[in-house]
Amino acid sequence: MSEDKALCKLKSQNLKVIVNKIKDATERATKGEDGVLLPDNKESITELIKNMHRHLTKDISLSEEAEKTALFQIQSTCHPFKESLIKSLSEMNEQLEEEFSKSEDITETVNKLPTKPQDELFSQVFGCGQQCPFCKVPCEAGGKKHEKHHAAVHRPQGLGRYRMVDSEKLVETLCTTDVNSARKFRCAATNGEWQPYKEFAKIYPDWLIPPDYTREASDYWKYVLVKYNDRFAQEYNAKPADVPEAWRSITREQALNGLKEAFNIKD
Ligand SMILES: [Zn+2]
Ligand SMILES: [Zn+2]
Repeated sequence: MSEDKALCKLKSQNLKVIVNKIKDATERATKGEDGVLLPDNKESITELIKNMHRHLTKDISLSEEAEKTALFQIQSTCHPFKESLIKSLSEMNEQLEEEFSKSEDITETVNKLPTKPQDELFSQVFGCGQQCPFCKVPCEAGGKKHEKHHAAVHRPQGLGRYRMVDSEKLVETLCTTDVNSARKFRCAATNGEWQPYKEFAKIYPDWLIPPDYTREASDYWKYVLVKYNDRFAQEYNAKPADVPEAWRSITREQALNGLKEAFNIKD
């Protein structure tokens, strides 16, 4: 199916849902709260529209101004009015269907949408903008509202500027490994006091960093740290990290595969 055809189908489906909702609301609106059909006079039209308003309140916003103008112009009584309304709804449906089938440019449609899909996608992927206090991996919780920030794969902490106090070497271990160890950290947030990684939540209560017994850094981040160790050290005014020898044999391809593995991307 071409993209334009798929878009046309999607529009038709959405149109059907909307039209059915309005039809349903109109039918229901012809009855009062007691379930009795509204009398067939002009005054009932106000009641009918009020009822429609109530039934559609979640889906469609009707402007009061437009409502008043319409009411002023209507000369008919309630029942024929409702019939005409249903009829024009069907006509509008057909007309729109035809417009959709004349398949317009997909980009044009996307540009006309009130919420831009690219913005939605961006805010999902970008998340809340918070970064892990140790390794600076961005929070992956998605969207803005969540109780705790979290990320699937943490990085060697040196990439987030963490360094050994004495040697000034960048830290090559992951935060997830350290929160499962007896190691301690200190930083501005601890007022320079040593704090066990295990109790990081006392300092960073908004972050969920699960202790990891097994996982080492992904091949990707090992590769990045090996390759750019000196440059990170220079940039962060530190000494390069002590990377395990085995990390040096990781190839670019293995690194990229590690990334795909971590994010479940299949070729
Ligand atoms: Zn981290
Ligand atoms: Zn977050």
